[in-house]
Amino acid sequence: MPVQQFCPNATEVVRRLQQAGYEAYIVGGSVRDLLLGKVPKDFDVATDATPEEVKVVFPRAHLIGRRFRLAHVRLGGVLVEVATFRAEQAKSSDTHESGRILRDNVWGTLEEDAARRDFTINALFMDPVSGDIRDFTGGYEDLSNRCLRLIGDPLTRYREDAVRLLRAARFVAKLGVEPHPDTGAPIAELAPLLEDIPPARLFEEMCKLFLTGHGTRTLEALQRFGLTRVMLPLLRATQDGKAETGTLLWAALKNTDQRVEEEKSVTPAFLFAALLWQPVEERAAKYMEGDMTPLQALERAGDEVIGLQVRRTAIPRRFSAVTRQIWEIQARFTRTRGKRVYSVLRQPRFRAAYDFLLLRAEQDESLHPLAEFWTEAQKGQPAPAHHSRRKRRPRRRSRNRKPAAGNN
Ligand code: ATP
Ligand code: MG
Repeated sequence: MPVQQFCPNATEVVRRLQQAGYEAYIVGGSVRDLLLGKVPKDFDVATDATPEEVKVVFPRAHLIGRRFRLAHVRLGGVLVEVATFRAEQAKSSDTHESGRILRDNVWGTLEEDAARRDFTINALFMDPVSGDIRDFTGGYEDLSNRCLRLIGDPLTRYREDAVRLLRAARFVAKLGVEPHPDTGAPIAELAPLLEDIPPARLFEEMCKLFLTGHGTRTLEALQRFGLTRVMLPLLRATQDGKAETGTLLWAALKNTDQRVEEEKSVTPAFLFAALLWQPVEERAAKYMEGDMTPLQALERAGDEVIGLQVRRTAIPRRFSAVTRQIWEIQARFTRTRGKRVYSVLRQPRFRAAYDFLLLRAEQDESLHPLAEFWTEAQKGQPAPAHHSRRKRRPRRRSRNRKPAAGNN
């Protein structure tokens, strides 16, 4: 198969590095996906050139990263990540006493670079110029057998980096591979290791897990491997084991997968609104038994739930603010009389909140009239006269204007 045709830009990066006298291969997920007949969105290249040397070959490359120092090369609109061969950790100062890797910038050989990768199917190197594949770990055969196998001793490799537990679940969902028993068996028991991973990194993983087009299968995989509880500690405990298909969460993930398929935008704000709705709704119900209004109750419950969740997955404020608004508008939706209708329609997150209401209504028939009301309410009425009395900001004319600070 003339593989270059699927990745002309990555091939060009490899060719130029080779011409400059370096060894270079396409590597990792991109090779795996190409061999599975999928065209990867971005490409990883591994080379024996250091980032500084890569920068000489590609003067416009950006050198990035702390834990992993990389060169980002953009060619023909495609991002190619160029990383220098790395070795497994040798120095104990780079490893936490728990076995966790802290730093990862020890240059190594091609073979060492294969060994430090996570799964065998992620450790294949392809020279797109010659078509050769270098396989040091049996990844090619595992890929043919749809077998997900950690390189080396599974317990050690999971302890070095517990995110590999999540990656296992993600690849099961994304690629339809099955973990080798030695790779799959320890996952549930080791799940608590994820508590020591920085919350910002876990947020990134959550997005990869749920916003890349196979969210429902991912939820199933997380449940199956007992990983949901540690990522979403506020969900009812009964949720570990088997994915519940008739829930808002399930419907939201299905909807998100569909949007990814159609290449529509998806946002962590909506995702977390759905992931956390169950605990928010339960807490809000309790507060309403007291003397809070539905809006006050939802605000309080939303604040609490987000506050607890960010300890595990640090949701950036620009997303969590929108998540809160989506929830709060659910309370405002119950006000279906008079001027308030217009003020709800004008909420900046109306659309997302309305989509959320439709998902709720899918699960709960008693919400059908409310959903219908808001479907109708949107249809075309011009803004009523009393709006013009309010001072309004002039409409933006240019679509290209930068958003106001703090408006993202
Ligand atoms: P995808 O892009 O579909 O998420 P991927 O395998 O390309 O999958 P990346 O996170 O892009 O995943 O990582 C690229 C490669 O880097 C992997 O294929 C693997 O070889 C290596 N890698 C990534 N994360 C780890 C890790 N936690 N431990 C060891 N190797 C890793
Ligand atoms: Mg990748």
